[in-house]
Amino acid sequence: METMSSTPQSQQWFDRAVQVSPGGVNSPVRAFRAVGGTPRFMTSAQGAWLHDADGTRYLDLVGSWGPMLLGHAHPEVIAAVTEAASRGTSFGTPSPPEVELAEEIVARTPVDLVRMVTSGTEATMSAIRLARGFTGRTRVVKFAGCYHGHVDSLLAEAGSGVVTLGLPGSPGIPAHVTADTIVLPYNDRDAVTAAFAEHGDEIACVITEAAAGNMGVVSPLPGFNQFLSETCAAHGALLVSDEVMTGFRVTRSGHWGLDGAQEGWRPDLLTFGKVMGGGFPAAAFGGRADVMALLAPSGPVYQAGTLAGNPVASTAGLTTLRLADDAAYARLDDWSAQARALVSSALDDAGVPHVVQNVGSMFSVVWGLTEPVHDFAGVQRQETHRYTAFFHAMLDAGVYLPPSAYESWFVSAAHDDEALTRMAEALPAAARAAAAATPA
Ligand SMILES: *Cc1c(COP(=O)(O)O)cnc(C)c1O
Repeated sequence: METMSSTPQSQQWFDRAVQVSPGGVNSPVRAFRAVGGTPRFMTSAQGAWLHDADGTRYLDLVGSWGPMLLGHAHPEVIAAVTEAASRGTSFGTPSPPEVELAEEIVARTPVDLVRMVTSGTEATMSAIRLARGFTGRTRVVKFAGCYHGHVDSLLAEAGSGVVTLGLPGSPGIPAHVTADTIVLPYNDRDAVTAAFAEHGDEIACVITEAAAGNMGVVSPLPGFNQFLSETCAAHGALLVSDEVMTGFRVTRSGHWGLDGAQEGWRPDLLTFGKVMGGGFPAAAFGGRADVMALLAPSGPVYQAGTLAGNPVASTAGLTTLRLADDAAYARLDDWSAQARALVSSALDDAGVPHVVQNVGSMFSVVWGLTEPVHDFAGVQRQETHRYTAFFHAMLDAGVYLPPSAYESWFVSAAHDDEALTRMAEALPAAARAAAAATPA
C-alpha cells in the first residue's frame, strides 16, 4: 500500500481539510474511506487526465462521477463558459441559455417540458413531490442499491456512498419519512407485482435508475423498465426514471435510447444531472406535459431555485451537449469496449474471478464472482478487498479509479490511445495485487 510521503502535498491539504470540514471532504466517497490512503487533491485537469497537488498525472476513469463526457477543460466549453461568465454570472431572471438547454433536452429525450434545478438530488426530490401532487398518493417504490441523491425518503437501502461506507441508512431521517418508501429488490418483477397488489392505489410512483450505476453497474433485465412503465400505468402510478447518471451518456438521450425508444414507451417523469451541467451544478426533471403543468407557477406544486437555470452552468451544459454528437458517443463506446477487454484479460491472466458489467460505456467489475449479478444482494457477495488492492496498484501506476467497488467507471470522448496504453501498462501488476489480496 502507498506511503504518505508519496503524496506530501495532498496529505497537507487533507490535514488542513479535516480541521475545517467533516472527514475533510464535501462528498463522502471522495475521502477514500473504503480503500484507505490519502485522497488526492487535484489542481488541474485536461482531456482524460488529472493532475494532483504533488504534480502526479493520472488517467481519469471517474470523470467527476459522470459529468465530464467530453473530457476535462474542453476548449470550446471553456471558451463558451468564459464568455458567458464575462456577461454576468446570475441574473435571477429568465435568460436565453436555459431556454436553449431545455430545447436541447426536449429534443433528445422523451420529455415534453423540463424544469432546471442545481443537483440530481433536487431533481429526484422534486419529481417525487410532483408525482405525489399529481396522483394525490403518498407511497413511493424504490429499488435496493439504487441511489437517487440524498433525499430523505430515498436514502433507504441506497447505493453509492451509503453502501460504500456500509451505512444501514442514515440517522436524522424520521421513521415517518421513510414509512411511505417501499424498497424492493432490483430487477424483481414478482416483488413489484406483489407491492402493487397490496398497495396499488396508494403508490404515487416507482422511481428507478434507468440502469443502475450506484451499486456498480447493473443493467435492467430485458423488458424490466417497460414492465415498470406498464405496471405503473395499470395502477394510476407514475414511473420516474432517474437518468442523472445515464442521461446523455449511454446514448444521445440516455438509457431510454436503449430500451423505451425501441420498445415504444416512455417514463412519465425523468431526472437528469451530471452530463447536462458540463461540470457545473445543473440538473433537471421533466416529463409528460399534463404532469409538468402542475408545477408552480402554472400549477400548485411548489418548486423553485435561486440559481436554477444559471446562465453560466446552462452554457456549459448546452455547449457540452451540442458537441456530444454521434461520433463522440461512438468514441466513448469504442474506448470503453477496449478498456473492458484489457481489464478482463489482465484479471484472467492473474486468475482473478470477475465479471465486467457495462451499460453502454459505463462499466464496473464484480470481484470474485463468475456470473453476472442483477441486484444489490448479488453485488454485495463480491470480494471488495480485491478491489482495494487493485485500486491502489492502479493509482500507483497513474490510473485514477473510483475509490469504491460500488461505483461505475466513466470514460470520455477524450480517452485516446495514450490512455489505453496507460491502462495496459498498469493492469498486469494491479491484477496480480487483486489476486494476492486477502480479506482485511
Ligand atoms: C449522482 C446521482 C444522483 C444525485 O445527483 P447529485 O447531483 O449528486 O445530487 C441522483 N441519481 C443518480 C442516478 C445519480 O447517479
